Amino acid sequence: MYIQNCFRENLLCLDLESLSQSNDTVCVIDTDFRLVAFNEAWVNFAITNNGSDVLQKYPLGCVILDACFHDAKEFYRKAYAEILADPDRFDQDYECSSDAVHRLFHQTAYPLRNNTGILITHHLVYERQYAGTPHEFGAQHVSKDGFIVQCAHCRKVQDHSKPDTWDWVPSLVRDPLPNISHSFCSACLDFYYPLPCQ
Ligand SMILES: [Zn+2]
Repeated sequence: MYIQNCFRENLLCLDLESLSQSNDTVCVIDTDFRLVAFNEAWVNFAITNNGSDVLQKYPLGCVILDACFHDAKEFYRKAYAEILADPDRFDQDYECSSDAVHRLFHQTAYPLRNNTGILITHHLVYERQYAGTPHEFGAQHVSKDGFIVQCAHCRKVQDHSKPDTWDWVPSLVRDPLPNISHSFCSACLDFYYPLPCQ
């Protein structure tokens, strides 16, 4: 485990050896949602899926919610605040797909027994070839003000020529463009993020 020294004594109640060796990615955040520990699987996942620079961008001590876009940040901030205030577990499915592979993960978050932070695990539920209809990137995916709106959950892209239509555009997942902004498509908002996000 990679642990921030000043937080180490708060983790004595955990089986750090098992967490360290887990195939699930595991992290711990403190009550200010700062990243204070993560395991080797976290490092491997970051390097495999996002590149090693993500570890430099979000090191120990960073506020983990800064990795989320605004609506997702508020969703998780509320969920984590609730389980700290009234100790309970929080569960959430989410997608983290590549251009070719559809992956569903399950996040479970538990308050530490001493209530000094939250243990968060991410378990791969399934990984399979993407079955959706692929679309070519086109002008209809760019808004009048020049932005491509991608769902932060399913990674589909809004078709601005048809109301509430979101397309699977693998090229934008493989090679993201700098003018992509994130939101939730209506299906993901309803199913996965039902709390008011606006
Ligand atoms: Zn979506």
